[in-house]
Amino acid sequence: MKKREAYFKLTYGIYLVSCAHKDESNAYIANTVFQVSSKPEKFAISCHKENYSSNLIEHGKAFGVSVLQKDTPLEFIQRYGYQSAATKPKSGQLNYKLGVTGVPIVYDYTVAWFECQVEQKVDVGTHWLFIGEVVDYGLLSSSEEVLDYKFYREHHKAASPSKAPTYVAEESESATVEEADLKSYACAICEYIYHPSRGDAARGISAGTSFDDLPDDWVCPVCGAGKMLFTESSATT
Ligand code: FE
Repeated sequence: MKKREAYFKLTYGIYLVSCAHKDESNAYIANTVFQVSSKPEKFAISCHKENYSSNLIEHGKAFGVSVLQKDTPLEFIQRYGYQSAATKPKSGQLNYKLGVTGVPIVYDYTVAWFECQVEQKVDVGTHWLFIGEVVDYGLLSSSEEVLDYKFYREHHKAASPSKAPTYVAEESESATVEEADLKSYACAICEYIYHPSRGDAARGISAGTSFDDLPDDWVCPVCGAGKMLFTESSATT
């Protein structure tokens, strides 16, 4: 059954969600941002329980949402979408203002923004669903096209990281080649591991293809990073 293909029929936008508590703040890429009520206007977002941001949203009781423009650079998405602030500071300077709740409202590559006061936190499994009322918003461009998940996936050949609510594991390819001397390589951006014994069937790479034999234009199936950002890994599974 083509589970992954079926799940990819669902569509989403791509957003930068911002949060803050006391003197800590963070921003991360999300695709699960929805308006769930019109009166009062409320948004829901889904955030992995282990994410650094979940803690900030829970205690700061607010979040900001920046709707990203279609030509947002992949590097920007990689920095805020595939790296945890808990283990690697998200370098780079964002253009932002402080909203009425104290969360940063980020302007970079932003078409429109919303600021929400959190009212409910719902346990939905791997993630918390935070529901908040819109307390402020702004429109930065009427003409700029917005980035959506389908375009992002097809244009950048990337997918959701493992902690995204929409992550779908690739159907495991039966290993037909012994691990033997084939070495695994890890992506420096998102920590995806390329296992030669599995290959990358979704991109036409058959099991048994060594990392060196991958085409030069092959990119990380998760974050879209190029081969030069991979390093040898001791991972065997
Ligand atoms: Fe990656």
